[in-house]
Amino acid sequence: TSYQSVALIVGVTGIVGSSLAEILPLPDTPGGPWKVYGLARRPRPAWNENHPIHYIQCDVSNKDETIAKLSPLTDITHIFYVSWMGTEECKVNAVMFQNILDAAIPNAPNLKHICLQTGIKHYFGLFETDTKSEPHDSPFTEDLPRLNQPNFYHNLEDILYEETSKSGLTWSVHRPALIFGVSPCSMMNIVSTLSVYATICKHEKTPLVYPGTKASWNCYADAVDADLIAEHQIWTAVEPNAKNQVFNCNNGDVFKWKHIWKTLAEQFGLEMVGYEEGKEQLSLQEMMKDKGPVWDEIVKENKLVPTKLENIAAFWFADIAFMSENLLSSMNKNKEHGFVGFRNSQKSFVSCIDKMKDYKIIP
Ligand code: NDP
Repeated sequence: TSYQSVALIVGVTGIVGSSLAEILPLPDTPGGPWKVYGLARRPRPAWNENHPIHYIQCDVSNKDETIAKLSPLTDITHIFYVSWMGTEECKVNAVMFQNILDAAIPNAPNLKHICLQTGIKHYFGLFETDTKSEPHDSPFTEDLPRLNQPNFYHNLEDILYEETSKSGLTWSVHRPALIFGVSPCSMMNIVSTLSVYATICKHEKTPLVYPGTKASWNCYADAVDADLIAEHQIWTAVEPNAKNQVFNCNNGDVFKWKHIWKTLAEQFGLEMVGYEEGKEQLSLQEMMKDKGPVWDEIVKENKLVPTKLENIAAFWFADIAFMSENLLSSMNKNKEHGFVGFRNSQKSFVSCIDKMKDYKIIP
């Protein structure tokens, strides 16, 4: 095959990386046919093996290893950076991204465009921070100024701006809302987290209790399907009108957790208990802290692909989602620039559960 474009996906087993790995090689993907390199730190997981990509195992926080493994890839035309270290610490996240660019830019003469994924924490700040500054009011728009506090997204953007201006490359920054996706190797996958919680409730014959706050139960929220983010990134990779821009990314609709909760209960055949008046937030992380062996048993009984509870479920992340409100972002700039992709959030939630069942990630 002669390829029109060559992608390097950094974080190919992650929540968006795995959608990119599925979509980029398809015959009708814009900019294609695409040759795809996909990189992650751990060995290639079995559920990821169907994607027709060249898998590279590399710890990109290690500069020498990154240079050694990436400098032979002289045909890369596009980089999709969909990774983070799993800690919000600025320095380590900056080093990872810098290492990728230091390895790729001098060695890939046809390199054209770099997609950087950050997120809406750009507008309200990091989860773990001592420097409290007032979050922006929502709906968030891309032109809002940076908050006056350290955020690794600022470091990543600054590296992107610096390196692309030096080398004449184009770039795009993607700020997704909460992501609905399928990967069991993601450090923040809300759908797998809730599916695992529901599966454990079913196993233990307990109802599906909503642990969150009243405000989070009742307010409008938004999310984005990982496949839609992949489409969004591919759009910026090929569309001249989308170059050198920052874009939010959500499904284009709103939902309420109370409605998703009902859907979740239905998907797993569970009785549900919604928010009850006067109730304090329960911590899922606390409720699930001893359930590792229960999950191991469920995996064994149902012959699932092997996962550990602490990898497939981020209960701390659900705890944050279930105390959040007012985090909507605007898609107006996207529409003004010609991106009109969307998903139905309810259907997106269910389709992620269905896919995880197909992949035998959950029973
Ligand atoms: P995930 O946690 O889903 O995936 C991370 C990927 O990066 C995995 O493939 C992982 O592979 C790889 N990786 C991590 N460390 C290294 C390393 N040192 N060397 C090589 N590969 C590595 O990522 P997300 O898509 O969630 O995160 C990307 C960005 O998106 C982050 O800035 C995040 O804050 C943001 N975001 C995420 C949201 C969400 O709901 N998940 C919502 C909005 C924004 P391995 O497991 O092998 O290490």
